[in-house]
Amino acid sequence: MKTQVAIIGAGPSGLLLGQLLHNAGIDNVIIERQDPDYVLGRIRAGVLEQGMVDLLREAGVGARMDFEGLVHDGFELAFDGRREHIDLKGLTGGKTVMIYGQTEVTRDLMEARAASGARSFYNAAQVQPHDLKGDAPYVTFEQDGEQFRLDCDYIAGCDGFHGVSRKSIPAGVLKEFERVYPFGWLGVLADTPPVSDELIYANHERGFALCSMRSPTRTRYYVQVSADEKVDDWSDERFWNELKSRLPERTAAKLVTGPSIEKSIAPLRSFVVEPMQYGRLFLLGDAAHIVPPTGAKGLNLAASDVNTLFRILLKVYGEGRTDLLEQYSAICLRRIWKAERFSWWMTSLLHRFPEMDAFGRRMQQTELDYYVSSEAGRRTIAENYVGLPYEAIE
Ligand SMILES: Cc1cc2nc3c(=O)[nH]c(=O)nc-3n(C[C@H](O)[C@H](O)[C@H](O)COP(=O)(O)OP(=O)(O)OC[C@H]3O[C@@H](n4cnc5c(N)ncnc54)[C@H](O)[C@@H]3O)c2cc1C
Repeated sequence: MKTQVAIIGAGPSGLLLGQLLHNAGIDNVIIERQDPDYVLGRIRAGVLEQGMVDLLREAGVGARMDFEGLVHDGFELAFDGRREHIDLKGLTGGKTVMIYGQTEVTRDLMEARAASGARSFYNAAQVQPHDLKGDAPYVTFEQDGEQFRLDCDYIAGCDGFHGVSRKSIPAGVLKEFERVYPFGWLGVLADTPPVSDELIYANHERGFALCSMRSPTRTRYYVQVSADEKVDDWSDERFWNELKSRLPERTAAKLVTGPSIEKSIAPLRSFVVEPMQYGRLFLLGDAAHIVPPTGAKGLNLAASDVNTLFRILLKVYGEGRTDLLEQYSAICLRRIWKAERFSWWMTSLLHRFPEMDAFGRRMQQTELDYYVSSEAGRRTIAENYVGLPYEAIE
């Protein structure tokens, strides 16, 4: 089998890259380890930056998002019993974010791919990229007991943090940067109306809480828990009581509770590898970097990597500009490190750290008070939250 771009992984990065390349007439094949229902069942991100929204529209998969997604002009920070509004639109010259679940983005992309007739292999086992430094890389895998070899020009490693792509790069090539936080997020999905029209990020003595949503009738709430917490120890009642205790009183009084549809604990980690390219293999999304979800950046960073590689490949195939391939990593990393910084900063600002003493707590409260009291401070938060601009490929 032959293609121009072999894509490993059918998460948002792989599917979005595949769709953009297909629309541009660049042949690609997606190889995914799981089955489609498993991929669709993962409840993850829900806040899309303007850049990602525009990219989904460009890929021709924006119709349902534009119809069902919720445009948010701002969000709130809650601390010391206060609720402070960050006016994203007003502070950034009109930029907003879109609330639309990662599951829905994935579904739209999967449906578009199926309709386009582009090739995908799900339930692929023993996926392995080969000859990355040569001119003729290829990927081998197994499906239903049959062995496949896919020859290609380039390989896009879109297979997430635990995938095979990053691990195929020889030891010593990549430099890893990592911080593991001593807590996680316990998340609950419920069919209840949101407590507020906007997301509320709460800093509280008992720990961080986030009131988020997926639609006007479906909510996603989180509370910070210690890293060794077990989800089975959290009944719905315990979760709702804990969430209420971390919100300002008037907000807690308005909170509508209900049975959870999904409940899980996500660990918090910052992670980056440099470079994001090895020969003809390119790493995208979670394969190359992880952010704690506090800044709502994980999915959006995956989209910006896709944007960069897509525009480079357009010029490679359209104009013979193979020189651009060497710039992929540096272009991506400039934006990634800024999003890593914002996600780390929001995490530091809003969570309760085990070693935090009374002084540390006052510093955190004062930093929040300072940022929301200053227009420059609010603007800094807003411009990072809506997403920094994509770099032009020239
Ligand atoms: C529990 C959780 C909660 C999250 N919450 C948020 C949030 O609130 N906000 C936010 O912005 N981000 C969040 N994220 C991050 C966000 O979901 C990711 O950044 C995003 O999914 C990255 O997309 P991706 O396509 O790069 O990787 P993934 O979505 O991980 O997709 C990778 C795909 O590759 C496949 N794969 C893996 N190994 C192989 C292999 N060897 N061969 C073939 N295929 C393989 C996987 O099955 C998967 O389908 C969360 C992540 C997790 C895990």
